Amino acid sequence: MTPPIYLDYNATTPVDQHVLKEMLPWFTERFGNAASRTHLYGWEAADAVADARQQVAKLIGATEKEIIFTSGATESNNLALKGAYEAAGAERRHIITVVTEHKAVLDACQHLEALGAEITYLTAAPDGLINLRQIEQALRPDTLLVSVMYANNEIGVIQPIADIGALCRANGVFFHTDATQAAGKITVGVEYDCVDLLSLSAHKLYGPKGVGALFVRKGTNLTAQLDGGRHERGLRSGTLNVPGIVGFGKACRLAAATMPTERERLKTLRDQLEKEILETVADVRINGNQEKRLPQTTNLSFEGVDGEALLMAFNRIAVSNGSACTSALVEPSYVLKALGVPDDLAHASVRFSLGRFTTEEEIAETIQHVQEVVARLRA
Ligand SMILES: *Cc1c(COP(=O)(O)O)cnc(C)c1O
Repeated sequence: MTPPIYLDYNATTPVDQHVLKEMLPWFTERFGNAASRTHLYGWEAADAVADARQQVAKLIGATEKEIIFTSGATESNNLALKGAYEAAGAERRHIITVVTEHKAVLDACQHLEALGAEITYLTAAPDGLINLRQIEQALRPDTLLVSVMYANNEIGVIQPIADIGALCRANGVFFHTDATQAAGKITVGVEYDCVDLLSLSAHKLYGPKGVGALFVRKGTNLTAQLDGGRHERGLRSGTLNVPGIVGFGKACRLAAATMPTERERLKTLRDQLEKEILETVADVRINGNQEKRLPQTTNLSFEGVDGEALLMAFNRIAVSNGSACTSALVEPSYVLKALGVPDDLAHASVRFSLGRFTTEEEIAETIQHVQEVVARLRA
């Protein structure tokens, strides 16, 4: 049986062949510890890490000194929030975030709440966006930080990051953004966006799993969450994952080079998928704002079909629906719930996320498969 068409690039991406090729020598003949200062093995590893750091920095308009390598965006989000909280004085105990954030942000906030932090969870509008006034009204004299994701992983909605950044800066509040889904897909610039802390992950942009970064603007005080050899300017101890970091650097370089054409190509394919499904299948709704959205993501609700049956029947495509299995119960996506999508419709929602290796033929086949499956389930 041929494997299903992969349309779950927001969950993870395959490692690009060019990335893998660049990584391989760093596992074997060039295996040095980047912290070894006494011989060639260490020096060449340190040079490779420095080069990768430059590529990662360049993708988001930062300088190398501001990039801290981590194990991924989960760790970056944890370091940003917990690190900022721990470093702040007792007079800064308030954090503002949004209910549609990634769990790595929401659960870190919950952890801090147990330690005495006060968290304001803003609600998104039915189209997934938050507005500046909500943040303005939530700001307090003791607000330490605002954390708003750049683009949502489930619905692709892009928040007004530059405006939020400017507001935070004007009020002397740190601004963190989880840019894991945005980086490499749309232009992200830490200067233009007035960002102080920004999370990235390699495996969402054709790099390997288990490596990511946190951008930390100079002057943003963080307390390390790991104690040890004081790697990464003391903010993240632990021997550097040299092959992973080299791959991450190469992935950033490729993403930057291909972004202008890829973003148009994928938008065309996504729009075609969306348009044909909407025209030929009745009672389908698009979740989230349609303009302010990643070019390669669409989240669709199919009215009047059973959600579980739908995902089971989609055996020719690999897609997801943001549901979480908590104990025996399947909970619908908390993001869609937060937008006011009723439970049964949230269950019958599907995220299609396209990527670098998605072809026109695959999209044509997907359209046909969706038409057949939904017609069958509704019959
Ligand atoms: C995937 C993802 C994460 C988690 O990244 P890992 O590197 O897998 O820990 C965090 N935030 C967003 C928005 C994501 O899409």
